[in-house]
Amino acid sequence: NATAAADLLAYAPNVTHGLGRITEGIMARGSGSYVTYADGRKMLDFTCGIGVTSLGHCHPKVSAAAAEQCMQLVHGQCSIAFTRQAAAMMPHPSLDSFFFWNSGSEAVEAALKLARIATGRQNIICMQGAYHGRTFGAMAVTRSKTIYSAGVAPLMPGVFTTPFPFWHQLGLEPSASTPALVEQYTAAIIVEPVLGEGGYVPAPPAFLAGLRAVCDKHGMLLIADEVQSGFARTGRFFAIEESGVRPDVMVIAKGLANGFPLSGVVSRKELTDKLPPGSMGGTYAGNAVSCAAACAAVKAAHPSHVIDVRGRGLMVAVEFTGAGVAARVAKKCVERGMLILTTSVYEVVRFIPPLNIAAADLAKGAEYSRRRWRRL
Ligand code: PMP
Repeated sequence: NATAAADLLAYAPNVTHGLGRITEGIMARGSGSYVTYADGRKMLDFTCGIGVTSLGHCHPKVSAAAAEQCMQLVHGQCSIAFTRQAAAMMPHPSLDSFFFWNSGSEAVEAALKLARIATGRQNIICMQGAYHGRTFGAMAVTRSKTIYSAGVAPLMPGVFTTPFPFWHQLGLEPSASTPALVEQYTAAIIVEPVLGEGGYVPAPPAFLAGLRAVCDKHGMLLIADEVQSGFARTGRFFAIEESGVRPDVMVIAKGLANGFPLSGVVSRKELTDKLPPGSMGGTYAGNAVSCAAACAAVKAAHPSHVIDVRGRGLMVAVEFTGAGVAARVAKKCVERGMLILTTSVYEVVRFIPPLNIAAADLAKGAEYSRRRWRRL
C-alpha cells in the first residue's frame, strides 16, 4: 500500500545514484506486459526491463520451470540440457560450442578473450555508436554511452573504432577508416547486428557481408553481439540471420532466459578448443535455475509451426512450417470472426489491417490469432 511504499522510498538515497533509474516507482509485481508499483500504480511495460522479459513478466511456463529447478538443484553450472536446446536454435551449424555467464557484459568480455586467444592477436575493432556493457573490456569497445567510463581510464588497450553505417551514410566502405596495419594485428571485429543503445539502427546486410569479407581476408573473427537483438526480438531468431552472414562468435543474453540472469558465448569448437582449460568460467556461470528458465523460455518463444515473422509497419507476414498450415490458420480465424489472408507462395498469413486501426483492435487481433494458432 501507499504508506509501505513511502516507507520503502525513504531508503532510495541509500542506493547509489551510480545505478541509473528511469522512474521513482518501486516495482512490486509483474505480469505479462504490465508491472505494478508498490504504491498500486499499474504501468504498461514497453521496456521489458531493457529488452529482457521478451515473453512478458513472470511467464507462467518460465516461472514454473524455474520453481521446479529450485527444488532440485539451485547451484550448478552450464546445463547440458540447455546447451542441447541452444544448439538447435543456431543460425548456422558451425556455431557448435557454448559457454555461459550471467550478464551480457561478462559474455562480451569472454568473447574478446576468446578472440585474442584463438587468433593470437591483440587488437579489436568496434563500431561507432556501439554499446557492449559496463565492465572494463566491454567499456573499451563501447562508443555510445562513454559517460559511463568517464574517469576510469586506462581501459583495455588495442581497440580501434570503425564507422557504423547510419542510414544517411549507406554505401560506406566497411573498412574505410581502418588502416591496414590495424587489420594485420586484429583479432576480431565486434558488431551489434542492430545497433541498440546507439539508436536502434539495423546494420544493412551488405555492411555485415562486408565485415565478413574483411574478416575472412585478414584472418579476423566476426563477433556478433546479439545481447539485445537476439531471441526473436527482431522477428528473426537472431538479427544477423536477416543478412545471411555467419558470425564466428555470437554473444547472447537478455531475452535468453526471460529475466533470469544468463548470458552466453557461442562459437566454433575449432576456436574454443584453443582455450586453455579453466581459462573461462565463473562461480555462477550458467546457473542451473537460469538454464531451466531459458529452456522453458526458448520453447515458449517458438510456437510449434511459426518459423518467421517479418514485414514493415502494417505489412506483416507470419510464416509457418507444414503443408496447409497457413490455410488452416486463416480458416479458423475467419470461422471465429477475423478476416485474414494467406499468400500464394509459402505457408504465410498476412496481417494488413487498416492503418488507422484502434490500438485495442490491433491488440485484439494479435491476441486472437495467437490463441487460434496454438490449437492448430
Ligand atoms: N551488449 C548489448 C548489445 C547490450 O544491449 C547490452 C545491455 N544493454 C550489453 C551488451 C550488456 O549487457 P549487461 O547489461 O547484461 O551486462
